Amino acid sequence: MALVGVLALQGSFNEHIAALRRLGVKGVEIRKPEQLETVASLIIPGGESTTMAKLAEYHNLFPALREFVKMGKPVWGTCAGLIFLANKATGQKIGGQELIGGLDCTVHRNFFGSQIRSFEAELAVPELASKEGGPEVFRGVFIRAPAILDVGPEVQVLADYLVPINEENTGSEKKVIVAVRQRNLLATAFHPELTADTRWHSYFLKMATETGEEASSSIVAVGAD
Ligand code: GLN
Repeated sequence: MALVGVLALQGSFNEHIAALRRLGVKGVEIRKPEQLETVASLIIPGGESTTMAKLAEYHNLFPALREFVKMGKPVWGTCAGLIFLANKATGQKIGGQELIGGLDCTVHRNFFGSQIRSFEAELAVPELASKEGGPEVFRGVFIRAPAILDVGPEVQVLADYLVPINEENTGSEKKVIVAVRQRNLLATAFHPELTADTRWHSYFLKMATETGEEASSSIVAVGAD
């Protein structure tokens, strides 16, 4: 099995590496641009996206990360990682932070409110249902989570969540998107790495095998020109 990189600047990278280990896969900590050349796919963990962006800038990682995405290599962003992958982020109080981009969506940072508004919710995720008819419900951990407000035509919505519009919960709800896939890119607003359920990691590994092969055959094709 090809090595999976985990961006290890800040946030829940250890938890992703532990989840991969439970599936028998080695996760490699990535802190420098040249380390990206040693891995076939990449996970960008949750954490704090402004801090992560500052550290990525300090280590000159943005050009290599953007190249990795452009080459069609599989990348999964969880929470702050989703923000990193989005083409556009809204909801920050001042300024913003540099993004890798590539995922055709607008993400709203801290959509559900501050840290004390963190929550867990059961999500219906048809893509996680097993062939044997196993459960498709996944319990998502949302920590100061973002939500995806709109997506481009190439983006497949994997899960959404109905948010009560006001605190009294009068019955009105608004639907937001919390998990998407766009070819080689996967993004979740919640934290599968903080649960014992490894189905999202398995999904990413399967997706990485499929899209990773496409990426390397297109590199060979480009090289053959
Ligand atoms: N709210 C954080 C941010 O904007 C993301 C939170 C998380 O990754 N749990 O970066």
